[in-house]
Amino acid sequence: MTSMRCIVCGNEAGNRLLQAREKMNGTLDSFDYLQCAACGHLHLVVPPTDLGPYYAKGYYSFHSRAIPAWRQWLYRTRTSSMLGGGSWLGKMLERIKPPYYSYWLGKTGLRLGNRVLDVGSGAGNLIRILQCAGLECTGIDPYLPENSSTPEGVELRKADLMDERKTYHAILFNHSFEHVPNPREMLQTAASLLEPGGCVVVRIPLSDSFAFFHYGADWFQWDAPRHQNLFTKNSFRQLAEQCGLRVDTVLDDSSDIQFWASEQYRRNIFHNSKESYAHNERQATFSKRQIQEFKRWAKWLNQMGAGDQAAFICRKPGS
Ligand SMILES: [Zn+2]
Repeated sequence: MTSMRCIVCGNEAGNRLLQAREKMNGTLDSFDYLQCAACGHLHLVVPPTDLGPYYAKGYYSFHSRAIPAWRQWLYRTRTSSMLGGGSWLGKMLERIKPPYYSYWLGKTGLRLGNRVLDVGSGAGNLIRILQCAGLECTGIDPYLPENSSTPEGVELRKADLMDERKTYHAILFNHSFEHVPNPREMLQTAASLLEPGGCVVVRIPLSDSFAFFHYGADWFQWDAPRHQNLFTKNSFRQLAEQCGLRVDTVLDDSSDIQFWASEQYRRNIFHNSKESYAHNERQATFSKRQIQEFKRWAKWLNQMGAGDQAAFICRKPGS
Protein backbone atom coordinates (compact mmCIF):
# COMPACT_ATOMS: atom_id res chain seq x y z
CA MET A 1 0.00 0.00 0.00
CA THR A 2 1.22 3.53 -0.82
CA SER A 3 2.55 5.41 2.19
CA MET A 4 0.83 8.78 2.51
CA ARG A 5 3.58 10.19 4.73
CA CYS A 6 5.54 13.26 3.62
CA ILE A 7 9.22 12.31 3.29
CA VAL A 8 10.32 15.75 4.55
CA CYS A 9 8.09 16.77 7.46
CA GLY A 10 6.40 13.44 8.24
CA ASN A 11 2.85 14.82 7.97
CA GLU A 12 0.13 12.34 6.93
CA ALA A 13 -3.08 14.34 7.41
CA GLY A 14 -4.73 15.68 4.27
CA ASN A 15 -2.00 14.62 1.84
CA ARG A 16 -3.14 13.83 -1.69
CA LEU A 17 -1.94 12.04 -4.78
CA LEU A 18 -1.46 14.04 -8.00
CA GLN A 19 -0.70 12.64 -11.44
CA ALA A 20 1.85 14.00 -13.90
CA ARG A 21 2.86 12.70 -17.34
CA GLU A 22 6.24 12.50 -19.01
CA LYS A 23 6.25 15.36 -21.51
CA MET A 24 9.86 16.15 -22.29
CA ASN A 25 10.13 13.25 -24.75
CA GLY A 26 6.34 12.87 -25.00
CA THR A 27 5.95 9.24 -23.85
CA LEU A 28 3.00 10.46 -21.70
CA ASP A 29 3.72 7.74 -19.10
CA SER A 30 1.79 8.65 -15.94
CA PHE A 31 3.31 8.95 -12.45
CA ASP A 32 1.85 9.50 -8.97
CA TYR A 33 3.25 12.24 -6.74
CA LEU A 34 2.37 12.71 -3.07
CA GLN A 35 1.66 16.34 -2.17
CA CYS A 36 2.07 17.19 1.51
CA ALA A 37 -0.76 19.27 2.96
CA ALA A 38 1.57 20.74 5.60
CA CYS A 39 4.83 21.72 3.84
CA GLY A 40 3.69 21.44 0.20
CA HIS A 41 6.47 19.02 -0.80
CA LEU A 42 5.84 16.85 -3.88
CA HIS A 43 7.46 13.43 -4.02
CA LEU A 44 7.42 10.75 -6.74
CA VAL A 45 5.77 7.76 -5.05
CA VAL A 46 7.14 4.86 -7.13
CA PRO A 47 10.15 5.68 -9.33
CA PRO A 48 10.51 3.47 -12.44
CA THR A 49 12.93 0.56 -11.87
CA ASP A 50 15.04 1.77 -14.81
CA LEU A 51 15.17 5.54 -15.26
CA GLY A 52 17.79 5.25 -18.02
CA PRO A 53 15.34 5.41 -20.96
CA TYR A 54 13.85 8.64 -19.55
CA TYR A 55 17.19 10.42 -19.86
CA ALA A 56 17.16 10.86 -23.63
CA LYS A 57 20.40 11.41 -25.47
CA GLY A 58 21.33 15.03 -25.09
CA TYR A 59 19.85 15.42 -21.60
CA TYR A 60 23.49 15.51 -20.61
CA SER A 61 26.07 16.85 -22.98
CA PHE A 62 29.18 14.75 -22.43
CA HIS A 63 31.41 15.81 -25.31
CA SER A 64 33.64 18.73 -24.44
CA ARG A 65 35.96 20.83 -26.55
CA ALA A 66 38.62 22.96 -24.92
CA ILE A 67 37.52 26.47 -23.94
CA PRO A 68 39.38 28.90 -26.28
CA ALA A 69 42.24 30.79 -24.62
CA TRP A 70 40.59 34.21 -25.00
CA ARG A 71 37.48 32.92 -23.21
CA GLN A 72 39.57 31.42 -20.41
CA TRP A 73 41.22 34.83 -20.03
CA LEU A 74 37.77 36.47 -19.84
CA TYR A 75 36.56 34.04 -17.15
CA ARG A 76 39.76 34.44 -15.16
CA THR A 77 39.78 38.22 -15.36
CA ARG A 78 36.07 38.72 -14.79
CA THR A 79 35.43 36.17 -12.06
CA SER A 80 38.60 36.24 -9.97
CA SER A 81 37.73 39.70 -8.63
CA MET A 82 34.65 38.08 -7.09
CA LEU A 83 36.96 35.56 -5.36
CA GLY A 84 39.24 38.06 -3.68
CA GLY A 85 41.72 38.52 -6.52
CA GLY A 86 41.75 40.23 -9.87
CA SER A 87 42.32 43.68 -11.17
CA TRP A 88 40.41 46.88 -11.87
CA LEU A 89 39.77 45.50 -15.38
CA GLY A 90 38.09 42.41 -13.91
CA LYS A 91 35.92 44.54 -11.63
CA MET A 92 34.91 46.66 -14.60
CA LEU A 93 34.10 43.65 -16.81
CA GLU A 94 32.08 42.11 -13.98
CA ARG A 95 30.07 45.30 -13.67
CA ILE A 96 29.50 45.72 -17.42
CA LYS A 97 28.58 42.09 -18.15
CA PRO A 98 28.24 39.97 -15.01
CA PRO A 99 28.52 36.21 -15.66
CA TYR A 100 25.29 34.19 -15.33
CA TYR A 101 26.48 32.52 -12.09
CA SER A 102 27.67 35.72 -10.38
CA TYR A 103 24.47 36.29 -8.35
CA TRP A 104 25.06 33.13 -6.27
CA LEU A 105 28.86 32.83 -6.50
CA GLY A 106 29.18 36.25 -4.89
CA LYS A 107 27.22 34.99 -1.85
CA THR A 108 29.32 31.87 -1.22
CA GLY A 109 32.36 33.58 0.32
CA LEU A 110 34.63 31.38 -1.86
CA ARG A 111 38.23 32.50 -2.36
CA LEU A 112 40.81 31.76 -5.07
CA GLY A 113 42.19 28.22 -4.72
CA ASN A 114 39.20 26.90 -2.72
CA ARG A 115 37.95 23.38 -3.48
CA VAL A 116 34.52 23.00 -5.12
CA LEU A 117 32.60 19.78 -5.73
CA ASP A 118 29.79 19.73 -8.30
CA VAL A 119 27.37 16.85 -7.63
CA GLY A 120 25.66 15.68 -10.82
CA SER A 121 28.13 17.66 -12.89
CA GLY A 122 27.46 16.08 -16.31
CA ALA A 123 30.30 17.19 -18.58
CA GLY A 124 31.27 19.87 -16.05
CA ASN A 125 30.18 22.88 -18.10
CA LEU A 126 29.84 25.13 -15.04
CA ILE A 127 32.92 24.00 -13.11
CA ARG A 128 35.17 24.27 -16.16
CA ILE A 129 34.43 27.99 -16.13
CA LEU A 130 34.96 28.21 -12.35
CA GLN A 131 38.26 26.33 -12.71
CA CYS A 132 39.44 28.94 -15.26
CA ALA A 133 38.49 31.59 -12.71
CA GLY A 134 40.84 30.13 -10.10
CA LEU A 135 38.87 27.54 -8.09
CA GLU A 136 39.91 23.89 -7.73
CA CYS A 137 36.93 22.01 -9.13
CA THR A 138 35.87 18.36 -9.17
CA GLY A 139 32.71 16.93 -10.73
CA ILE A 140 31.00 13.68 -9.83
CA ASP A 141 28.12 12.08 -11.69
CA PRO A 142 27.06 8.43 -11.53
CA TYR A 143 25.84 8.70 -15.15
CA LEU A 144 29.22 9.68 -16.63
CA PRO A 145 30.48 7.04 -19.08
CA GLU A 146 33.92 6.91 -17.34
CA ASN A 147 36.41 8.90 -15.23
CA SER A 148 38.11 11.67 -17.16
CA SER A 149 39.44 15.19 -16.85
CA THR A 150 38.63 18.27 -18.91
CA PRO A 151 41.25 20.27 -20.87
CA GLU A 152 41.12 22.90 -18.07
CA GLY A 153 42.13 20.29 -15.46
CA VAL A 154 38.75 19.58 -13.86
CA GLU A 155 38.56 16.01 -12.60
CA LEU A 156 35.28 14.32 -13.61
CA ARG A 157 34.53 11.09 -11.75
CA LYS A 158 31.84 8.49 -12.36
CA ALA A 159 30.93 8.36 -8.69
CA ASP A 160 28.26 8.84 -6.06
CA LEU A 161 28.40 11.49 -3.32
CA MET A 162 28.07 8.76 -0.65
CA ASP A 163 31.55 7.45 -1.61
CA GLU A 164 33.21 10.88 -1.35
CA ARG A 165 35.93 11.28 1.30
CA LYS A 166 37.58 14.65 0.58
CA THR A 167 36.36 17.91 2.11
CA TYR A 168 35.30 21.01 0.17
CA HIS A 169 34.72 24.75 0.61
CA ALA A 170 31.57 24.53 -1.51
CA ILE A 171 29.41 21.66 -2.71
CA LEU A 172 27.09 22.44 -5.61
CA PHE A 173 23.85 20.79 -6.65
CA ASN A 174 23.17 22.71 -9.84
CA HIS A 175 19.72 21.40 -10.78
CA SER A 176 20.67 17.87 -9.79
CA PHE A 177 19.11 17.67 -6.31
CA GLU A 178 15.56 17.25 -7.66
CA HIS A 179 16.70 14.12 -9.53
CA VAL A 180 17.97 12.12 -6.54
CA PRO A 181 15.75 9.54 -4.80
CA ASN A 182 17.42 10.16 -1.39
CA PRO A 183 17.66 13.94 -0.83
CA ARG A 184 18.08 13.64 2.94
CA GLU A 185 21.10 11.31 2.72
CA MET A 186 22.60 13.49 -0.02
CA LEU A 187 22.32 16.71 2.00
CA GLN A 188 23.55 15.06 5.22
CA THR A 189 26.60 13.71 3.37
CA ALA A 190 27.26 17.10 1.74
CA ALA A 191 27.07 18.78 5.18
CA SER A 192 29.59 16.28 6.59
CA LEU A 193 32.09 17.04 3.78
CA LEU A 194 32.14 20.83 4.30
CA GLU A 195 35.24 22.70 5.42
CA PRO A 196 34.58 25.12 8.33
CA GLY A 197 32.76 28.16 6.91
CA GLY A 198 31.92 26.28 3.70
CA CYS A 199 28.53 26.12 2.08
CA VAL A 200 26.21 23.90 0.07
CA VAL A 201 24.61 25.61 -2.93
CA VAL A 202 21.37 23.98 -4.10
CA ARG A 203 19.60 25.21 -7.23
CA ILE A 204 16.18 23.55 -7.57
CA PRO A 205 12.71 24.05 -9.07
CA LEU A 206 10.02 25.19 -6.64
CA SER A 207 6.45 23.95 -6.48
CA ASP A 208 5.20 26.87 -4.37
CA SER A 209 5.47 28.95 -7.52
CA PHE A 210 3.07 30.76 -9.80
CA ALA A 211 3.98 28.38 -12.66
CA PHE A 212 2.99 25.28 -10.64
CA PHE A 213 -0.35 26.75 -9.57
CA HIS A 214 -1.09 28.12 -13.04
CA TYR A 215 0.01 25.21 -15.22
CA GLY A 216 -0.44 22.21 -12.86
CA ALA A 217 0.60 18.98 -14.62
CA ASP A 218 1.71 21.07 -17.62
CA TRP A 219 4.33 22.87 -15.52
CA PHE A 220 7.60 22.37 -17.38
CA GLN A 221 9.72 21.81 -14.27
CA TRP A 222 7.49 19.07 -12.86
CA ASP A 223 9.36 16.92 -15.38
CA ALA A 224 8.00 13.50 -14.29
CA PRO A 225 9.60 11.09 -13.62
CA ARG A 226 13.11 12.66 -13.75
CA HIS A 227 12.30 15.18 -10.99
CA GLN A 228 11.62 12.91 -8.02
CA ASN A 229 11.29 15.66 -5.40
CA LEU A 230 9.78 19.09 -5.94
CA PHE A 231 10.46 21.28 -2.95
CA THR A 232 8.74 24.38 -1.65
CA LYS A 233 10.83 27.01 0.11
CA ASN A 234 9.34 25.70 3.34
CA SER A 235 10.07 22.00 2.68
CA PHE A 236 13.64 22.71 1.57
CA ARG A 237 14.35 24.80 4.67
CA GLN A 238 12.99 22.00 6.88
CA LEU A 239 15.14 19.37 5.17
CA ALA A 240 18.25 21.57 5.40
CA GLU A 241 17.69 22.07 9.14
CA GLN A 242 17.16 18.34 9.66
CA CYS A 243 20.55 17.81 7.95
CA GLY A 244 22.32 20.27 10.29
CA LEU A 245 22.37 23.17 7.81
CA ARG A 246 20.89 26.66 7.94
CA VAL A 247 19.60 28.36 4.79
CA ASP A 248 21.53 31.63 4.73
CA THR A 249 20.34 33.06 1.44
CA VAL A 250 17.55 32.33 -1.06
CA LEU A 251 17.92 33.76 -4.56
CA ASP A 252 14.89 33.48 -6.87
CA ASP A 253 16.29 32.81 -10.34
CA SER A 254 13.44 31.65 -12.58
CA SER A 255 13.43 32.49 -16.29
CA ASP A 256 11.16 32.76 -19.34
CA ILE A 257 11.33 28.97 -19.94
CA GLN A 258 8.73 28.47 -17.17
CA PHE A 259 6.22 30.16 -19.49
CA TRP A 260 7.05 29.09 -23.02
CA ALA A 261 7.85 25.45 -22.20
CA SER A 262 4.72 25.09 -20.04
CA GLU A 263 2.58 26.80 -22.71
CA GLN A 264 3.93 24.23 -25.18
CA TYR A 265 2.94 21.34 -22.88
CA ARG A 266 -0.58 22.79 -22.71
CA ARG A 267 -0.66 22.62 -26.51
CA ASN A 268 0.79 19.09 -26.54
CA ILE A 269 4.10 20.26 -27.97
CA PHE A 270 6.77 18.21 -26.22
CA HIS A 271 10.03 19.83 -25.20
CA ASN A 272 12.26 17.59 -27.33
CA SER A 273 9.99 17.63 -30.40
CA LYS A 274 10.99 19.33 -33.64
CA GLU A 275 8.30 22.01 -33.24
CA SER A 276 9.56 23.03 -29.80
CA TYR A 277 10.93 26.54 -29.29
CA ALA A 278 13.86 24.81 -27.53
CA HIS A 279 15.04 23.44 -30.87
CA ASN A 280 13.54 25.71 -33.46
CA GLU A 281 13.03 29.33 -32.43
CA ARG A 282 12.03 30.38 -35.95
CA GLN A 283 9.21 27.91 -36.49
CA ALA A 284 7.88 28.10 -32.93
CA THR A 285 4.60 29.81 -32.20
CA PHE A 286 6.05 32.53 -29.96
CA SER A 287 6.93 35.94 -31.29
CA LYS A 288 10.02 37.79 -30.07
CA ARG A 289 7.66 40.16 -28.31
CA GLN A 290 5.97 37.32 -26.41
CA ILE A 291 9.33 35.95 -25.29
CA GLN A 292 10.32 39.42 -24.08
CA GLU A 293 7.04 39.52 -22.16
CA PHE A 294 7.81 36.10 -20.57
CA LYS A 295 11.24 37.40 -19.53
CA ARG A 296 9.62 40.43 -17.89
CA TRP A 297 7.10 38.26 -16.05
CA ALA A 298 9.88 35.95 -14.81
CA LYS A 299 11.81 38.94 -13.47
CA TRP A 300 8.70 40.23 -11.72
CA LEU A 301 7.91 36.79 -10.21
CA ASN A 302 11.49 36.56 -8.90
CA GLN A 303 11.05 39.94 -7.21
CA MET A 304 7.78 38.69 -5.67
CA GLY A 305 9.43 35.42 -4.51
CA ALA A 306 7.07 33.36 -6.70
CA GLY A 307 9.34 32.21 -9.53
CA ASP A 308 9.61 28.49 -10.24
CA GLN A 309 13.21 28.03 -9.09
CA ALA A 310 15.77 29.38 -6.64
CA ALA A 311 19.32 28.99 -5.39
CA PHE A 312 19.68 28.17 -1.69
CA ILE A 313 22.97 28.84 0.10
CA CYS A 314 23.24 26.65 3.19
CA ARG A 315 25.82 26.68 5.97
CA LYS A 316 26.48 24.85 9.19
CA PRO A 317 25.31 27.06 12.08
CA GLY A 318 28.25 28.55 13.94
CA SER A 319 30.75 27.92 11.15
ZN1 LIG B 1 5.55 17.78 4.42
